Formats: sequence, structure tokens, C-alpha cells
Amino acid sequence: MSSAAELDDRGVLIVCPTCGQRNRLVYDRLGDAVRCGKCKTAIGAPNAPIEVHSSADFDRLIAASSLPVVVDYWAPWCGPCRMVAPELQKVATRQAGRALVVKVNTDQLPDLGERFGIRSIPTLAVFAGGREASRIVGVRPAEEIEAFIRQAAPALPR
Ligand SMILES: [Zn+2]
Repeated sequence: MSSAAELDDRGVLIVCPTCGQRNRLVYDRLGDAVRCGKCKTAIGAPNAPIEVHSSADFDRLIAASSLPVVVDYWAPWCGPCRMVAPELQKVATRQAGRALVVKVNTDQLPDLGERFGIRSIPTLAVFAGGREASRIVGVRPAEEIEAFIRQAAPALPR
């Protein structure tokens, strides 16, 4: 997995593949093309699912993101979650710059699972414009997940 990306309270932190500098893609300009602040290498949009580590970061992301955010609620003991993971990886790669895919471990962040009423996993939810637009439960192939995102957030280009 190519995910060298992390979230903080202001944006996605991506390590420059050329010089190793950490760059922050701020949430409200996530779809923009950016260059490394140090060596000016073009930094691609996040192309792998990013693990969420705090509910505060999650809230800031959802409130500020300029792109639709696809949230995968999962847990390590959940077999179907492991089946959907490679499909989400495909979605994150193919929709890089158009949607952001994040993963919420409901064992580590039970407050999020509770707040959003997650009763079974995997649950996939699309957030757009600061709120949840739609959700689906269970394992789906990447194509179905992409169709679901387009339906939930119609601005997403084909
Ligand atoms: Zn660099």
C-alpha cells in the first residue's frame, strides 16, 4: 500500500516521494494540484485509504473537505472488512483528486461509531458538504462503490 499519508486537524500530510519533506494538503483545497514546499516536486492527490486516528481530526475533515469523503467503518476482527479493503484501495487510486477515502476503526474510535449509529461493519458512508449524504452496508466491488459515491455526491466526475 502506498499510503504515506496521515490526517491532522488541518489537512492531509503527505511525504514527498523525492525529498521526504512532509507536505500538508489543507482540507478545503484537497482537489488542488500542489508542489512540495521544499523541492517543488508535484505531489499527487492521496491515492490510498487513510486511517483516521482521532474523532477531532475526523470532524475537521468532514467539516472542511472540498472533496466527497468516503468513510469505511471497519475493525481488525471483521472478515468482510478485509474483503472490502482491496476494493476501497482501487477506489482510492482511481478517484484520487476526486474523492478522499478514509478508514475508521470502530474499536479504536467507538465514539464515532456510536455517534453515527454504525450497527454492522463494514459500513461505507459518503460525506459531502459537511454532512453524511448516504451509506451502504456490506461488501461491494469497487465499481459498485464508485457508483454509490457518484449517486451520493453527484458532483463527482466520471
Ligand atoms: Zn520534496
